[in-house]
Amino acid sequence: MSLENIGIGLGVDAHKFKPGGPLILGGVTIPFDRGLEAHSDGDVLMHAVIDAVLSAADLPDLGELFPATDENRGRSSVDMAREVARQLNVAGARILSIDAVVLTQKPRISPLRGQLRESVAACFDLKVRQVNVKGKTFDHMGPIGREEGIESRVVALVERGYTTS
Ligand SMILES: [Zn+2]
Repeated sequence: MSLENIGIGLGVDAHKFKPGGPLILGGVTIPFDRGLEAHSDGDVLMHAVIDAVLSAADLPDLGELFPATDENRGRSSVDMAREVARQLNVAGARILSIDAVVLTQKPRISPLRGQLRESVAACFDLKVRQVNVKGKTFDHMGPIGREEGIESRVVALVERGYTTS
């Protein structure tokens, strides 16, 4: 592996809460009294993961791959992640590591960490240890602290020009 073939990517996403759950994070359906408002399923964690890996692989971003068309209305984040995994593969890009932060006052992320890691890893055919997810509150400050929505920030490392042969 040549180090100059390693790309780093940053993905950021945020969505507003809407009344009524469930809440979908990292492809996991979480029982909660609020969901997230979006054209798709509002999976703020998976959207940021997708943008991070696409950026690290030097591929078009989430908005370009899945524009806000009728076809993509309510589109499942797992479905989008699998399609992105396929495109990375075609482009010869291999994910090495993903580190994600979910910024939210509620629900608490720590009890969900294992599930979220497993789900994201499964979508991209990775080992669980290649994906880290942690939660962070904003100590009741700002829109996150006032429980207006959830934000996610993700970095990814990708090896480009990778072939299995
Ligand atoms: Zn989103």
